[in-house]
Amino acid sequence: MKLPIYLDNHATTQLDPRVLEAMLPYLSDKFGNAASRSHQFGWEAEQAVEAAREQIAKLIGASSKEIIFTSGATESDNLAIKGVAEAYRKKGNHIMTAVTEHKAVLDCCKHLEKHGYRVTYLPVAADGLISLEALQNAFTDKTILVTIMYANNEIGVLQPVTEIAKLCREGGVLFHCDAVQAIGKIPVDVNRDGIDLMSITAHKLYGPKGVGALYVRSKNPRVEIAAQIDGGGHERGMRSGTLNVPGIVGLGKACEIAMSELPEESRGIAALRDKLKLQLEENLDDVYVNGSMEHRLPGNLNIRFDGVDSESLLMGINDIAVSTGAACTAAKIEPSYVLKALGLTDEQANSTLRFGIGRFNTEAEIDYAAERVIDTVKKLRELSVSFGIERAVGQ
Ligand code: PLP
Repeated sequence: MKLPIYLDNHATTQLDPRVLEAMLPYLSDKFGNAASRSHQFGWEAEQAVEAAREQIAKLIGASSKEIIFTSGATESDNLAIKGVAEAYRKKGNHIMTAVTEHKAVLDCCKHLEKHGYRVTYLPVAADGLISLEALQNAFTDKTILVTIMYANNEIGVLQPVTEIAKLCREGGVLFHCDAVQAIGKIPVDVNRDGIDLMSITAHKLYGPKGVGALYVRSKNPRVEIAAQIDGGGHERGMRSGTLNVPGIVGLGKACEIAMSELPEESRGIAALRDKLKLQLEENLDDVYVNGSMEHRLPGNLNIRFDGVDSESLLMGINDIAVSTGAACTAAKIEPSYVLKALGLTDEQANSTLRFGIGRFNTEAEIDYAAERVIDTVKKLRELSVSFGIERAVGQ
């Protein structure tokens, strides 16, 4: 077993060697610009891009012409939300989202609020799920877009996407879904699920960083978006800029692998996650999973160790790469807004670890991580008890 152990697969994933192999020719001999129409180099690049478009479309049940390449999901979220807001401005100015969305979505909404749009931020229950009733009640005749994620990047909780889509369809409202954490981990199908726009990024599914895609429905209904990056008119005018051919080839290959390996892989990953959970729960008191266990990604375990400061815990397990339930903004460590939205106190949010288990993790790694966490939590709790007694005696 090689240390350190990587258990932070929601942040990013390791490039699959098969993806790297597919990309390499496009970083050397096959360096053409996919928009070059007059020679072999350009045609070769274009063919590779179109093959990747097919691979991505196949994984999500779309047609290849509905895929627009971007630099990643932050850009896809921006293009979807601002692009729809601008294109449908005459129809209305109301957008709905949830408080636990990724910043890429929330900050787009905040931006639009400064430009005359009204945004409803739906709360979530302690299990991390939005209320469908609250969503339905918040629709107005000015609502143009609902943007709700498939799976949360911190707590792994899956929103009721199909039901959300149904309500949107009934209300004649478009539905954008940030599916970054779900794609390649659970089956996602834009037609079965009723999604109109969907954000994807390669680096969360064992592909390279800096490349992603936006799915835009072409019929029933045909979705319009206003381009957010103007230039040479690439991607049918919806996103200008020379295509990142090696990155796109990598994203395509990552989707092809996910397509063939997803069912078995997700079962294996869920088994590792359940083993980790069981070991922690059997050996430690006051351990609680944050958010619904039933509606959750197979590889996610967001768990809190009451009375333990997660920053101290992280330092104690420095050969294991996980993240805390905290986000660093400039110099300050803030408790996670996602955990706070579930109703956790600052202290509870700051005693949380997020484990993200992925394709390359082994059972031995999980056993080692569990042992290290159990030991460290016990030590930290002992320390705080003796520290507490000393303080009490001193007073
Ligand atoms: N949306 C979600 C849910 C994410 O987890 C991430 C990754 O951090 C993003 C969007 C942003 O993706 P990218 O890193 O490709 O910009």
